[in-house]
Amino acid sequence: TKQVYSFGPDGTEGRSDMRELLGGKGANLAEMASLGLPVPPGFTISTAVCAHHTETGGYPEGLTDEVREALAKVESRVGARFGDPKNPLLVSVRSGAPASMPGMMDTVLNLGLNDETVRGLADKAQDERFAYDSYRRFIQMFGDVVLGIDHSRFEEALELYKEEHGYNLDTELTADDWKALIEQFKQIVEDETGEPFPQDPEQQLWKAINAVFGSWMNQRAVTYRRLHNIPQNWGTAVNVQAMVFGNMGDDCATGVAFTRDPSTGDNEFYGEFLPNAQGEDVVAGIRTPQPLTTHAKQKNDSDLPALEETMPSVYRQLHDVRQKLESHYRDMQDIEFTVQRGTLYMLQTRTGKRTARAALTIAVDMVKDGIITESEAVERVSPASLDQLLHPTLDPEAEREVIARGLPASPGAAAGVAVFTADRAEELSQAGTDVILCRTETSPEDIHGMHAAKGIVTARGGMTSHAAVVARGMGRPCVAGAGQLRIDEQQRRMIVDGVTVKEGDTITIDGAAGEVIRGKVPTVKPELSGEFATFMGWADRLRELGVRTNAETPQDARTAVEFGAQGIGLCRTEHMFFESDRITAVREMILAESEEGRRGPLARIEPMQRQDFVDLFRIMAGFPVTIRLLDPPLHEFLPREDADMHEVAQAAGMTVDQVRARALKLTEANPMLGHRGCRLGITYPEIYEMQVRAIFNAAADVAEETGETVEPEIMIPLVAVAKELEILRGLVDRVASEVMKDRGTRIAYKVGTMIELPRAAMLADAIAKHADFFSFGTNDLTQTAFGISRDDAASFMPTYQSQGILSTDPFISLDQDGVGKLVEMGAREGRRSNPALSLGICGEHGGDPDSIGFCQGTELEYVSCSPYRVPIARLAAAQAAI
Ligand code: PEP
Ligand code: MG
Repeated sequence: TKQVYSFGPDGTEGRSDMRELLGGKGANLAEMASLGLPVPPGFTISTAVCAHHTETGGYPEGLTDEVREALAKVESRVGARFGDPKNPLLVSVRSGAPASMPGMMDTVLNLGLNDETVRGLADKAQDERFAYDSYRRFIQMFGDVVLGIDHSRFEEALELYKEEHGYNLDTELTADDWKALIEQFKQIVEDETGEPFPQDPEQQLWKAINAVFGSWMNQRAVTYRRLHNIPQNWGTAVNVQAMVFGNMGDDCATGVAFTRDPSTGDNEFYGEFLPNAQGEDVVAGIRTPQPLTTHAKQKNDSDLPALEETMPSVYRQLHDVRQKLESHYRDMQDIEFTVQRGTLYMLQTRTGKRTARAALTIAVDMVKDGIITESEAVERVSPASLDQLLHPTLDPEAEREVIARGLPASPGAAAGVAVFTADRAEELSQAGTDVILCRTETSPEDIHGMHAAKGIVTARGGMTSHAAVVARGMGRPCVAGAGQLRIDEQQRRMIVDGVTVKEGDTITIDGAAGEVIRGKVPTVKPELSGEFATFMGWADRLRELGVRTNAETPQDARTAVEFGAQGIGLCRTEHMFFESDRITAVREMILAESEEGRRGPLARIEPMQRQDFVDLFRIMAGFPVTIRLLDPPLHEFLPREDADMHEVAQAAGMTVDQVRARALKLTEANPMLGHRGCRLGITYPEIYEMQVRAIFNAAADVAEETGETVEPEIMIPLVAVAKELEILRGLVDRVASEVMKDRGTRIAYKVGTMIELPRAAMLADAIAKHADFFSFGTNDLTQTAFGISRDDAASFMPTYQSQGILSTDPFISLDQDGVGKLVEMGAREGRRSNPALSLGICGEHGGDPDSIGFCQGTELEYVSCSPYRVPIARLAAAQAAI
């Protein structure tokens, strides 16, 4: 099979839909070349070769010949020869995986230079300084990436040289200076590796290819893939491409751009460039880049000239490329370009990463402009990213002590304590503290800290700097390039205009305004109208699954309704039992030794419980409300603190010692498998009777008051045996008819059960005979199917994931292979024996986009999730239905 694919002005072998084989970069370079855009010629070695290399350490047969042929094509296209001392071809060697992994893997530029070809380059460019600067950069990059020499070795040598010669800036060094440094750099290589710097370009090329393939398995790439759920076995492609130079003088430049604003989604050409600069200089954030358009220049109040002003004809060409790429890809693109002596070259295009707000705006705009359909728009926004839009933003009325301003690199507001290293960010956040990571600039080594932080601040770098790109991808608010900040990592502090912020001091950042603020600023609710509402309306029209919420407090229920919930799928009544007005009565009830003893406190709890339901029914008027009768082990309610013991003792007329003895007796060895769920209803029916009475009285109250009907759905937890449900259904029906008779009214209701034990799934047919509905309680079902405690999994789950034993945490995303089989079986058998049975899910998985796809496939009627996940579930359900 073919392993190497050429691209260039005449004859390109790849296409954009071959990204699995060619990686994103290779596939899109090929596509751009086919579109007739100015792409320097090159070739891509496929990801299949990487897989082979990772496995065996070697290369498949025939690869050297294919590479030689492809290189010959590049030579003839460019009109230069690899290794030719007079007219050398130079190439870049870059990784490019099927999924974008910004900055994660390695790149070598200027490859092909050696002691001879450097003179050829100097003659060709008529610029000796440029040639030797390129050569020393090559040795540096090659030394670092390919030979594994710490890059600080080279930097120290350079700094020392500058000091000795009284230079401040790299630009002050002459060709002779670079020549002298090159000798030093070569010596460093020899000292470190025991071998001279390789002079043979062919050898350089293969070593670089090796290194790029090897970089697929480096630690930060492995971590990035784990965080972004990218399979470890995909492999990267290697792109070898003729070099073009953005650093040959003032008519040269290099830059990156987005075809629309990646932060707001506005239909404006957005980008940055550096004149006379090479390769990664823009992304590295070392010099402050200049805007592309005069519009952006004015908007950001920049005094640096725009590309539109300094190179108008290049700008016009680039603008044409923008139009061409957007209409071809029908999506916002992120592009890289280089200008060599006034000529524009395109080095990359890919679908641009964007904030949730931008994703929404772009999708809605593109539908309005007839570029994409509503259902394409719905497919383009990642459900999880909506989370960014649902959270509070800074209160515009609140006082803000702004201590620094930077670029609005990623929107959202966050407050936390300032930390100055990624490791510290991770440490403190693991200890439960919200942190804001403040760095001079970030690099791929900071990823774990950025992930742990609530927000990110950098002192250097633009909108396309590493910090900005990664923060947007992660949905973290970010202020980039706040130039006034002086960050002192050693002393753990930063200083701005005389104000010192030490590690542990609280700051707030506003990523949409680009502000760093002292202290914690109050927040306000997000805006859910406009584009958001339009977009969610499309999702609602497309989806088939209903979306309910898990809520028991009026506030959660209200939030959920605002977010579009169509009822309550799980009201955990035990949460109500912990309220301060009744917890003592609850404890008294539990500690009582007889039914008689329980009835007293239950009678006191009942009116409070009734009021709880009245509140919920009012808020959920017209929607179904599923109320689960008491579920947790009684053990959980036992008093532990001395003060609580006293209080209960007093209320119950017992001594503290009696209370303590009774509590000890009720303590269970394995409470999650103990006296809980419907077992409580079987042993202490008076508890469930009280709850059912409260529910039906509340329903009658609200019906009388508002005329609106409510549909209570009474749910029995943790059923394993059909007989349990049969008995408890009898209890519900009996109490319901008593209340209805008493109130002289009729209330439509349902009785059902949770399917949260494997046995219940296996005997769903028998259980369904007594149920109007099933709700899959996949939290307990996962716990009991795996035999892994949901409360204790955190100590070993990360190891299981990093060793690839489990690809995702089964308590977050449904284990479709195993637990999913139980759900399928429960649904199928339940329906078979009771065709009228309705089915839903209320475990945490009800708000997880992948699991929602599974629910659609299993033809459940609804998913139920926590209020903040309701919009996510609406969108995920729509995507699952498309
Ligand atoms: C479940 O087990 O999935 C469930 C929803 O119930 P809880 O989380 O309250 O145990
Ligand atoms: Mg449960």
